Amino acid sequence: MTESPLFNVHTHRFDNHALIHIDALNCQIPKDVNLNNYWFSIGIHPWDTERINISEVPILLARCFEEIHPIAIGECGVDRLRGASIDIQLTVFEQHVEFATKKNLPVIVHSVRAISDILPILKKYNTTTFVFHDYRGNWVQTETLLQLNCYFSFGASVLRPNEKFLEVIRKIPSCRLLLETDEADSTLLPLILEQVATIRKVNPKMLEIEIRENVEFVFFKSVEHG
Ligand SMILES: [Zn+2]
Repeated sequence: MTESPLFNVHTHRFDNHALIHIDALNCQIPKDVNLNNYWFSIGIHPWDTERINISEVPILLARCFEEIHPIAIGECGVDRLRGASIDIQLTVFEQHVEFATKKNLPVIVHSVRAISDILPILKKYNTTTFVFHDYRGNWVQTETLLQLNCYFSFGASVLRPNEKFLEVIRKIPSCRLLLETDEADSTLLPLILEQVATIRKVNPKMLEIEIRENVEFVFFKSVEHG
């Protein structure tokens, strides 16, 4: 029996063995898609916070949740370079985290220069699991996040790291690592794994085994695999 490919924890494309981001604003899935063949996360991207009515966010999440039965909430978060004001983005992020906490689901976090902004929310909902997607924080920030229920997903950015990022890729404990391709082609995933293993000076196969365990723990511990 051949082993299934490594699970890709964040993508905007329709791929198998992947957590597919669905925009909760319209919750649209192609008609011919069999929902049982895919895994979904639902959320409102911080870039879209300029065109939403905050009071509708919990309703949109609840509606989309009923429709597609996601296994995670997000991506959601705060982006200091795009989207609505920080106050609005923080409110919308907390709405997502509150919803995820009620449903006992992990949250896929998009954070651009915003870790200190979102930290109070992460601490307030400290039983919830957070997955920082395309993580590029520095080591001081990472140490703070490691004290919480946070996981770190690396994407194509690991293919062109600077010195500071290399340090983070090297030092994050393997029990908190996940991998993704985001907007890029999913065939990049093995390359991202290879690169992270090279930087950490570990055997890629061993690293893959550890990441598979993290995937199981974060996303599938309470889900029947259908
Ligand atoms: Zn994304």
